[in-house]
Amino acid sequence: MEILKSERIKKLPPYLFAEIDKAKRKAVKAGKDVIDLGVGDPDLPTPENIINALRKASEDTSNHRYALDAGMPELRKAIADWYMKRFGVKLDPETEILPLIGSKEGLAHIPLAFINPGDQVLIPEPAYPVYRSATWFAGGEPVYMSLLESNGYLPDLEQLRKEDLKKTKMMFLNYPNNPTGASCSIGFFDEVVEFARKNNIIVCHDAAYTEMYFGASKPPSFLQSNGARDVGVEFHSLSKTYNMTGWRIGFAVGNADIIAGLAKVKANIDSGIFGAVQRAGIEALTNSQSEYERLMEIYKKRRDVFVQGLNNLGWKVPLSDATFYVWIPVPPGYSSQELVMTLLEKASIITTPGNGFGQSGEGYIRAALTVNEERLNEAVDRIGKIQ
Ligand SMILES: *Cc1c(COP(=O)(O)O)cnc(C)c1O
Repeated sequence: MEILKSERIKKLPPYLFAEIDKAKRKAVKAGKDVIDLGVGDPDLPTPENIINALRKASEDTSNHRYALDAGMPELRKAIADWYMKRFGVKLDPETEILPLIGSKEGLAHIPLAFINPGDQVLIPEPAYPVYRSATWFAGGEPVYMSLLESNGYLPDLEQLRKEDLKKTKMMFLNYPNNPTGASCSIGFFDEVVEFARKNNIIVCHDAAYTEMYFGASKPPSFLQSNGARDVGVEFHSLSKTYNMTGWRIGFAVGNADIIAGLAKVKANIDSGIFGAVQRAGIEALTNSQSEYERLMEIYKKRRDVFVQGLNNLGWKVPLSDATFYVWIPVPPGYSSQELVMTLLEKASIITTPGNGFGQSGEGYIRAALTVNEERLNEAVDRIGKIQ
């Protein structure tokens, strides 16, 4: 029998990070000492107290059954308390909070609840690839908003207001931003709220990196903006904050109708998060944050070592004060792809070409700070020897 793929699957380019992984495996197989700055997956282990909470909860037989798809009441309350403490925003645990099997899962499913075939979805570029594939899966049409250095990597709302937005139903945003490392202000979110309300556009803010910051001011939540709750939701992740990428836990918060729509899709697809992982999530959000604080110190030091090292070689890399990504302007004479290939072939260093995240990423490569300082110094040494 001939196996025919659906149009929506045929449309998908190879998943960016799967491609990087393939290049890495090839280099490792060839016996190279590879320094992997490719995928944003923390190298350090999950904090001990969280592992212990999982261990204990895994022995509780009530966790062995299907989890409620809306999440344990205790988890929803822990999320509400954390949100109040961190952002000063009060959430109703019953209607405004939805635990997710990682934030990627929620981001990938939300267009199914609100997008009809032919509807348009505003998507930043460069960006995390899931917004686009999720839009395609729902039959929607991505409309790209370029994030340029000249505009602080924010979409140009003024320009957007001049466009025909009748078919536009949804907008994805992500600050602090992957891949650029840029942050935004509450003032920007205020403008987004006004824009969204006026044009009836659902805002989906991906807040995976609000806790990963090194500057004095904490990145804001979209929901801190007046009226944000009328127009949108925000997606949070425990993955990067607590080194829990493999555990699969995150959550969506915000507008109750939007949350209900996403919950309805999910109720027909998954059966909730393993109860013991939910217990571990409660532990992560409610107990000592000292391990988290230690982690952020580590990332800050790595950033300083790596960025200063490259700048000592004559590169021009700005210091970003959030996320564990370094968005590196490509030195003259290279395209993004050429630089990534040169680093791989001549220095066994894996990075991601900026244009893999969207066309405005051409001229940049992304490095994830997921190896220790010693290895970052080694990476800089190897790069210095290429020139
Ligand atoms: C890592 C990442 C996510 C996914 O996080 P999970 O909670 O592990 O699914 C979402 N958005 C962005 C921008 C990310 O970089």
